[in-house]
Amino acid sequence: MELSWNQIDEKWRSKWHDAKDFETDPNDKPKKFITVAYPYPNSPQHIGHGRTYTLADVHSRYYRMKGFNVLFPMGFHYTGTPILGMSKRVQANDVELINAFKTLYNVPEDKIKEFVDPVKIADYFHEEIKSGMIEMGFSIDWRREFTTIIPAYQKFIEWQFRNLKEKNLIVQGNHPVGWCPNDQNPVSQHDTLGDVEPDFTEYIMIKFNMGDEIIPVATLRPETLFGVTNLWINPEIVYKKVKVDGERWIISAECAYKLEFLDKKIEIIEDILGSELIGKKVHSPTNEDEFLILPASFVIATTGTGIVMSVPAHAPYDFQALEDIKNGNQKNIEDSLRDEVGKIQPVSIITTEGFGDIPSLDVIKRMGITNQDDPKLEDATKEIYSKEFYEGKLNSNTGEFAGKKITFVKEEVKEWISKTGKSDIMLELTNESVKCRCGAECVVKLLNNQWFLDYANKEWKEKAHNCFESMNILPNEIRTEFFNVLDWLRERACARQHGLGTRIPWDDDWLVESLADSVIYMSFYTMAKFVNSGEILAENMSDGFFNYIFYGGGDSEIIAKDAKITAEKLEEIRNEFLYFYPVDSRHSGRDLVPNHLTFFVLNHVAIFPKENWPKEIVVNGSVLMDGKKMSKSMGNIIPLRDAIRKYGADPIRLSILISAELLQDADFNVETISSIKNKLESMLEECIKFNSHGKIGTEPEDIWIQSRLSKLISEVTGSMEKMRLRESLHHILYGFDSDLQWYMKRANAKNRDDISGVLNKVISIRVSMLSPFAPHVAEEMWEKLGNSDMVSKSSWPKGEEQTDDGAIQSESLLSSVMDDISNITKVTKITPKKIIIYTSDNWKSKAYHKILSGVISGETNVGAFIKELISQKETENVKKDPDFVKKTLKDILSEPTELRKTKVRAGEIDERKIISSELSSLIETDYGIKLQVFSENDSEKYDPKNKARMARPYKPAILIE
Ligand SMILES: [Zn+2]
Repeated sequence: MELSWNQIDEKWRSKWHDAKDFETDPNDKPKKFITVAYPYPNSPQHIGHGRTYTLADVHSRYYRMKGFNVLFPMGFHYTGTPILGMSKRVQANDVELINAFKTLYNVPEDKIKEFVDPVKIADYFHEEIKSGMIEMGFSIDWRREFTTIIPAYQKFIEWQFRNLKEKNLIVQGNHPVGWCPNDQNPVSQHDTLGDVEPDFTEYIMIKFNMGDEIIPVATLRPETLFGVTNLWINPEIVYKKVKVDGERWIISAECAYKLEFLDKKIEIIEDILGSELIGKKVHSPTNEDEFLILPASFVIATTGTGIVMSVPAHAPYDFQALEDIKNGNQKNIEDSLRDEVGKIQPVSIITTEGFGDIPSLDVIKRMGITNQDDPKLEDATKEIYSKEFYEGKLNSNTGEFAGKKITFVKEEVKEWISKTGKSDIMLELTNESVKCRCGAECVVKLLNNQWFLDYANKEWKEKAHNCFESMNILPNEIRTEFFNVLDWLRERACARQHGLGTRIPWDDDWLVESLADSVIYMSFYTMAKFVNSGEILAENMSDGFFNYIFYGGGDSEIIAKDAKITAEKLEEIRNEFLYFYPVDSRHSGRDLVPNHLTFFVLNHVAIFPKENWPKEIVVNGSVLMDGKKMSKSMGNIIPLRDAIRKYGADPIRLSILISAELLQDADFNVETISSIKNKLESMLEECIKFNSHGKIGTEPEDIWIQSRLSKLISEVTGSMEKMRLRESLHHILYGFDSDLQWYMKRANAKNRDDISGVLNKVISIRVSMLSPFAPHVAEEMWEKLGNSDMVSKSSWPKGEEQTDDGAIQSESLLSSVMDDISNITKVTKITPKKIIIYTSDNWKSKAYHKILSGVISGETNVGAFIKELISQKETENVKKDPDFVKKTLKDILSEPTELRKTKVRAGEIDERKIISSELSSLIETDYGIKLQVFSENDSEKYDPKNKARMARPYKPAILIE
């Protein structure tokens, strides 16, 4: 059967739409409020974006079936600079971008012309993304949709900002930020190519004197100043002589450029070639020591000042570079200077267990390094740095710092040098190159008198920490990552000069940054409905209004009058918030852990009382395409809507979900899609076949399959509660196939014609559990099963009550005997003429259960069991067959605990009766002969090979002739 997936999608989508099924208002049911990070509409969605939204949709649909009143809303995040940048490129007729719109995104040409207006770009992709979400079957309440540039939202953000400022959580100050020199704007993860969060490292610049000029060197190891023997320059680099705040410095051009962003006034005087500095002498900033400037090829212009201190005892590069000069490998150096270098000896200043006096020498020898261009020097450096940092102590030649541990002394040394006035600070981006989306290389900038969210505030962090502590975080392993983020978080610039969004309410020159206006917007969904219907107008939404809605503060009569709404309407909006808040689950991709998700919690704890703090965060990994990362450059991005047209919504939903649990990367590929399609098609055929709600039989196999079904339900439910959706899907799609096969085998052997009732029940339950995952085709299946209502409105099936452990044990006995017979005939290659089964004697069954309970309470000693069993009348026969105890104990110990418990609950089962009455039909079907069954103690039994005595409970003896 070739299904028209698109037809099925459309059919059910329009039914849901007409029934307004996902429009959620407060009612007397318990609620769940499920949200996902809203999209930034600067391109169409691709398969990768689909994952987070699909997870949230499955979550929403599951909770609806569990009886909750579920709100799943969606908004669109217009705030920020990238869209503005795009429209500027369209204005400039940028061929690359315009072609991408045409060919990659299929945007009509007349639309592209409108893209000179950034809002038109956002509007276009907004509609594109929204259509994709509807086509994916996401159960969203679209009445609450908004964008972040509508006036009402701007009023809301102004309230949020004034609120934070009153709490002193927005502060004005001078702090470093990642910065795009081209856009003249701070940059965060969302503004950079490859979504890198710009982080920076603080270097200390130590100023050496060369006559009336200063040679500053940047280092992370100020304590090594005591071990300096010389400085290094790169003879190939053209350095700059510059005037810096009244001093004359020599630094690389790159350093001069970066320092300007760090508030230094730089005046270029002239160039000086690195080679001209070779052999010059500098003075230590802290004593009378003099050091030579020497050439080294490892010195680069883009790090620090382009000049470095040489600490040969503890820095392998320095040691090797000196060696290279001493043994003539360094060519462009005069003989007289080489003699002088020959006298330079490494100065050991740190003692670390496991290293000798000169750690560099130890490691260089061990690694077999022979010149300064050897890449192994990098590993050597890391090894010494890390070991000395954690275990090293300063030697007696370090003055007041002697004996102190490196781990603690760094800051002290830094302060000590700083007091002499011979040092400065330099900030560098930690990731070597961070590029803005506009293509410009980012830098660190000291931003003065800027507005910052005070995420460094200890009390604030503490509160957020408590919130994380009390939250459900799925998967739980990501919890510590949030704690780490909280720890390193510092002040964060929350204003931008350009972009779309809301102006800072007290400072018109600035706009609220995009990761600051997207932290508590979930609360806005509760009032967006009233904004969209025109019941409340943006111009009437004052701070008093928001305070009343969110806190219940103020006089409702006056507030209603000011807001130009009735007191009843005001109350209704407030109740909407009270009913839906807090957020029950927040879904997002893993890349938002270090920013959005953490800020979301920080801002909630700052603005809302504890009862409105979020309850849960669900984090998911990304989607790979055929095992590879999706990217524009790889050309392997599939726009979501194209994929829906090609494969249908449900096959896409399932293939995104079935290949991975939350944090793992999911893999999307055509093979998975087609195997899922096949599975769904065959399920649909079954639904057509078993569409009658007939009577449910009472044969043992009927009871058994319902017990198995019950177990399936509890397993799936358990996985759903932990959002282990891959596991759930496997259970639903494949976990029941072998049980169904067994059932059909049993029923067919008996020539039954009354099984459609039970099959209808089994299939219906599978379909209803499938419906959160594959909502369209599940509705189609449900209809084919003969139901007139919708499966999305049915209740999630319940497990427990039906489980019959006796039935489960009986069937597993039957199937294991069938397996044994089949194995024997395979091995012996006999075509059976007779099959005889001997069930064990009654005392064995009693003994078996005694051993079983013994094992469950922790006993495993054979001797102890034998002694105990012999002492009791009903099992005293053990003395004739002590080997039975040993074998039985082995049987039991090889089984999983869960199975042992089922056997205890099932109690003793009458194996002879079960096998005689239920196995005969199977034997007749499979082998065409009559089955003979005897009990071990049957005096009339046919037992030519004396096999009956081998019978054990659950392991009857078998004779095949
Ligand atoms: Zn830029």
